[in-house]
Amino acid sequence: MRILVLEESKSTRNLLRTRLERAGYTVDTADNGHQGFQRATANVYDVILSNIAMPHWDGFKFIEAIQVVAPHLPIMVIVPASGDHAVRARLHQYPSVLGILAEPFDFDALLKRLAAVPRQTHASVNKKAKIVCTIGPSSNTPEILGKMILAGMDVARLNFSHGSHATHEAALAAVREAEKAWEKPIAVLQDLCGPKIRTGPMQGGAVQLSAGKVLAIQADPVEGTAQRFSTITPEILADLLTGDPVLLDDGLLELRVLREGAREVLCEVVVGGILKSGKGINLPQTDLSLPGITAKDWQDLDWGLNHSVDYLALSFVRSAEDIRRIKQAVAAAGKRHLKVVAKIEKPEAVRNIREIVEAADAVMIARGDMGVELPAARVPRIQERIIQLCWELNTPVITATQMLDSMTVNARPTRAEVTDVSMAIKEGTDAVMLSQETATGADPVNVVRTMASIICEEERHARPSAEHFRELEKDAAVYPALSAVAQFGAASAILLLDPDGTLYPLLSKWNRKAPILLVTGSLHVARHASLYHSIFPLIIKDKLDRADMVLRSLTMAREGGYIHADESIAVVEGPRITRRGIRQMASVQVIRMERE
Ligand code: PEP
Repeated sequence: MRILVLEESKSTRNLLRTRLERAGYTVDTADNGHQGFQRATANVYDVILSNIAMPHWDGFKFIEAIQVVAPHLPIMVIVPASGDHAVRARLHQYPSVLGILAEPFDFDALLKRLAAVPRQTHASVNKKAKIVCTIGPSSNTPEILGKMILAGMDVARLNFSHGSHATHEAALAAVREAEKAWEKPIAVLQDLCGPKIRTGPMQGGAVQLSAGKVLAIQADPVEGTAQRFSTITPEILADLLTGDPVLLDDGLLELRVLREGAREVLCEVVVGGILKSGKGINLPQTDLSLPGITAKDWQDLDWGLNHSVDYLALSFVRSAEDIRRIKQAVAAAGKRHLKVVAKIEKPEAVRNIREIVEAADAVMIARGDMGVELPAARVPRIQERIIQLCWELNTPVITATQMLDSMTVNARPTRAEVTDVSMAIKEGTDAVMLSQETATGADPVNVVRTMASIICEEERHARPSAEHFRELEKDAAVYPALSAVAQFGAASAILLLDPDGTLYPLLSKWNRKAPILLVTGSLHVARHASLYHSIFPLIIKDKLDRADMVLRSLTMAREGGYIHADESIAVVEGPRITRRGIRQMASVQVIRMERE
């Protein structure tokens, strides 16, 4: 059984370690709340023995954080002899506090309590694939976002299909506050809605449409009823032809055009159901004259250019040209750090996939609209192909939509959802996304924790494919150090010295086994890297020489719980001129972590 001892005094720590090891336990130690928390998130421990008196971190904050990440992990708390009743009463409120020991405590009593602790089955957050969470009313406070970060969130998505600039501004500020509080770089992804067609408002928020009835879609705004409703994009009415299908709410409802008209179109309800305000309208057989980037997108883009956004996603991309136009606008504004994500959901995008992936900085497989624009049965194969292509072209890819959809209301996912997340990880996606599950769902923290545990379980069994090695051989001549380290099986972690952030995308592609600790001085690089599989940024802003940089990084990595005593770490760096003027192409150094 493995115990993590968190105690500020080194001598007490060593004493506890010696006595517990003598009693047959495996023991790790750490010296304060923050370091200890990072260690505990490695989730290899069965019990934590923690001193509540933490000079660098509030001990209660520590217990609250553990409750988020590992609610079932028991904690034995050591309190000072003079510990008052209020402290004890507060500790007793936490379900995971197993017992309270007042100093100096009876060691035999501690052993007796430990003997009764069962071995844990760990739902770890020590995952390598990344989680993108959509932020909305359920998750837009620094407190909830902090818990989502602890549970495994890496990227926060602001969906500009909903909300106002004011609500996104508040959500962004909350993300940045939580990011700072928990010291984990978080990328913010602004999702521009593109030419997304939606219904207007409905009377009372929703109306019932019945199959066989006739209704009108009109250009002038109206409060929708079962007889008529409007759309926020009236330009589409002129494009609709008699017989065209009109799919509503991700295709749950279906209409068919009976009579054309630029201001009003008459339709028959083919598949009825409840239609809510602001639901998507898809027109898979209509030739639309809408521009690929709408006036709203340009206004929203302007907002993104003036806020701390890291990725900009464009919906309903049809060709590489759509991406290039956005990139030109970003370059013209001098925002080099803003990366562009292509959302793949249109049949045209699937046809032009290679040129789009080549033009974009990242890709999102937007399965919601894709499954309406194309037959839903084709989505799994398209997903697999896009993930493979992105891997070959070294572009990070997000698999999105309905991954844990039932958890919007339920506490547990369906088995089919668990398998869906697992399959995407197995296929090699960099990230998986949560939409309404975290934006409007009942318990966003639980959803993130659940997704992290599914990822961890799948990653425990992951093996690189034969294709992986074929590709690696091709690239080995260009980046020998990176390919060498990717094939080197013994490293527990890879420390990548990559100040400009040019190498980490390559190493993320080649190595998916050991965590890659990316050492950078740039917050922008760190945030971007948060989307890439296996990359964990360590920010060191000081200008240090190489040896000091390695030492500082190792200390941070150890404190972060990424590396442990007796493990081998591969230190990798790219081209540089050494202090003696030698032109180094690349270097790999394998080091062993000593015991404290
Ligand atoms: C999707 O359609 O799957 C998607 C991610 O886009 P949105 O949430 O904007 O509809």
